[in-house]
Amino acid sequence: MSIQSFHPPVRTLMGPGPSDVNPRILEAMSRPTIGHLDPVFVDMMEQMKELLRYAFQTKNELTMPVSAPGSAGMETCFVNLIQPGDTVIVCQNGVFGGRMKENVERCGATAVMVVDDWGVAVDPNKVEAALQANPAASVLAFVHAETSTGAISDAQTLAALAHQHDCVVIADTVTSLAGSPLKVDEWELDAVYSGTQKCLSCTPGLSPVTFSQRALDIVTSRKHPVQSWFMDLNLVLGYWGGGGKRAYHHTAPINALYGLHEALVILQEEGIENSWARHQKNHDALRAGFEAMGLSFVVPEGERLPQLNAVSIPEGVDEAAVRTALLNEYNLEIGAGLGAMAGKIWRVGLMGFASNRTNVLFCLGALDAVLSGMKAPITAGVAVDAARAAYK
Ligand SMILES: *Cc1c(COP(=O)(O)O)cnc(C)c1O
Repeated sequence: MSIQSFHPPVRTLMGPGPSDVNPRILEAMSRPTIGHLDPVFVDMMEQMKELLRYAFQTKNELTMPVSAPGSAGMETCFVNLIQPGDTVIVCQNGVFGGRMKENVERCGATAVMVVDDWGVAVDPNKVEAALQANPAASVLAFVHAETSTGAISDAQTLAALAHQHDCVVIADTVTSLAGSPLKVDEWELDAVYSGTQKCLSCTPGLSPVTFSQRALDIVTSRKHPVQSWFMDLNLVLGYWGGGGKRAYHHTAPINALYGLHEALVILQEEGIENSWARHQKNHDALRAGFEAMGLSFVVPEGERLPQLNAVSIPEGVDEAAVRTALLNEYNLEIGAGLGAMAGKIWRVGLMGFASNRTNVLFCLGALDAVLSGMKAPITAGVAVDAARAAYK
């Protein structure tokens, strides 16, 4: 056998996630592994919960990272809150709403779909009509930041409608956490899940979640046991619950948690409002560059995510060849379209540590050069200047 150690290339990650990981986080992850019931580790877990409450802007006692990626946070919310026979209203304006539907149906419940076009926010009027037409519904589920299209929805308004109709809210905040304003308590979101590899700039593989008292009451008073042993919060809380007493449930991913702890310390140092503002500022500059070049945004103004920029591909351009050139020549990754948007858009992420001026100028310069080289119908040579002007 002559297989050698794996050494990945150093890339700039400006796709839909993972985003560039702050070197401080990688350094934290290389610290010594200790036992997951070691009192020192248990203290770190308590700090983690406190740091996550800050990130989510909540006082919820049940705030913790699920030991698996964002999709497992999604599943944790659905399997714990939904019982067979329930009716759940699911908003779909991109890929991730479709996954919510799958989750609902696998819980033995009925999903009532509220469908909006890909690339726009969820329409609260349609949601209100669905709530009125389905008085038996017990849950409203929606994606705050749709990473497949770059659209943000009005979580506060949707949650208020749900509560008027006695529904609890499940909100996907995988891409919004730390990148766009998200206020779990003020907006009264009940079960919220996120991810570590988007605007927290941590490695993939963990999913922070937070549950309101109203949501927790549903979990603890279920008639049917949660179908998933691993995700049953009634069991997980014996491990992550308060009081410093820990019973073994599973072995926490120790070093991954060091990384998330560091990511959250970095967020606290910057200040969450400053993080939101930084994402907006870099988006504004990238947008100035794209528009000068002649690339148009898919999502209407006012509904755009600053951390995920979906732009249309110029006429006649082989979009995959452009991404390949960026990767091979510039070590730069941008995202392709997903689902209904495949082949139609690029998704340029400015998430977390990757949301900075250097990356904005680098990406615009690289795209300008590659597209010009292909004789694509763009206005060449102006994008970087437009972005630089936007920073002044
Ligand atoms: C990335 C993402 C997920 C899934 O997270 P994974 O860590 O890939 O499992 C879920 N929802 C949204 C909106 C996402 O962007």
